Amino acid sequence: MPIYEYHCDDCKEPFEVFVRSVNAPAQAVCPKCGSEHVAKEVAAFAAVGLSSGGLSASSTSCAPSG
Ligand SMILES: [Zn+2]
Repeated sequence: MPIYEYHCDDCKEPFEVFVRSVNAPAQAVCPKCGSEHVAKEVAAFAAVGLSSGGLSASSTSCAPSG
Protein backbone atom coordinates (compact mmCIF):
# COMPACT_ATOMS: atom_id res chain seq x y z
CA MET A 1 0.00 0.00 0.00
CA PRO A 2 1.59 3.23 -1.13
CA ILE A 3 1.90 6.02 1.36
CA TYR A 4 2.16 9.62 0.31
CA GLU A 5 3.48 12.32 2.54
CA TYR A 6 1.76 15.67 2.54
CA HIS A 7 2.15 18.88 4.42
CA CYS A 8 -0.52 21.46 5.12
CA ASP A 9 0.03 24.95 3.79
CA ASP A 10 -2.19 26.44 6.45
CA CYS A 11 -0.90 24.93 9.66
CA LYS A 12 2.29 23.40 8.24
CA GLU A 13 1.28 20.07 9.65
CA PRO A 14 2.92 17.08 7.98
CA PHE A 15 0.82 13.98 7.55
CA GLU A 16 0.69 10.79 5.59
CA VAL A 17 -2.04 9.56 3.30
CA PHE A 18 -2.67 5.92 2.63
CA VAL A 19 -3.61 5.43 -0.99
CA ARG A 20 -5.62 2.32 -1.70
CA SER A 21 -5.52 2.75 -5.44
CA VAL A 22 -3.10 4.79 -7.46
CA ASN A 23 -5.86 5.28 -10.01
CA ALA A 24 -8.05 7.00 -7.47
CA PRO A 25 -6.85 10.57 -7.05
CA ALA A 26 -8.26 11.25 -3.63
CA GLN A 27 -8.12 14.82 -2.39
CA ALA A 28 -5.95 14.89 0.67
CA VAL A 29 -7.12 17.05 3.52
CA CYS A 30 -5.24 18.11 6.60
CA PRO A 31 -6.25 15.90 9.53
CA LYS A 32 -5.47 18.74 11.89
CA CYS A 33 -7.34 21.72 10.48
CA GLY A 34 -9.21 20.03 7.63
CA SER A 35 -7.76 22.36 5.03
CA GLU A 36 -7.45 21.20 1.45
CA HIS A 37 -4.47 23.44 0.90
CA VAL A 38 -1.99 20.62 1.10
CA ALA A 39 1.05 19.80 -0.95
CA LYS A 40 2.51 16.42 -1.61
CA GLU A 41 5.99 15.95 -0.31
CA VAL A 42 8.58 15.14 -2.92
CA ALA A 43 10.12 11.73 -2.64
CA ALA A 44 13.60 11.62 -1.20
CA PHE A 45 15.13 10.20 -4.35
CA ALA A 46 13.42 12.84 -6.45
CA ALA A 47 14.33 15.75 -4.23
CA VAL A 48 17.77 16.02 -5.76
CA GLY A 49 18.36 19.53 -6.96
CA LEU A 50 15.85 21.22 -4.73
CA SER A 51 17.30 23.69 -2.31
CA SER A 52 14.78 24.80 0.25
CA GLY A 53 15.76 25.46 3.80
CA GLY A 54 13.44 24.31 6.51
CA LEU A 55 13.21 20.60 6.22
CA SER A 56 16.07 18.65 7.66
CA ALA A 57 16.43 14.93 7.40
CA SER A 58 18.82 12.97 9.49
CA SER A 59 19.40 9.28 9.47
CA THR A 60 21.56 7.44 11.92
CA SER A 61 21.92 3.85 10.88
CA CYS A 62 25.41 3.17 12.14
CA ALA A 63 25.42 4.94 15.46
CA PRO A 64 28.44 4.30 17.65
CA SER A 65 27.81 2.45 20.84
CA GLY A 66 27.93 4.75 23.77
ZN1 LIG B 1 -3.67 22.05 8.41
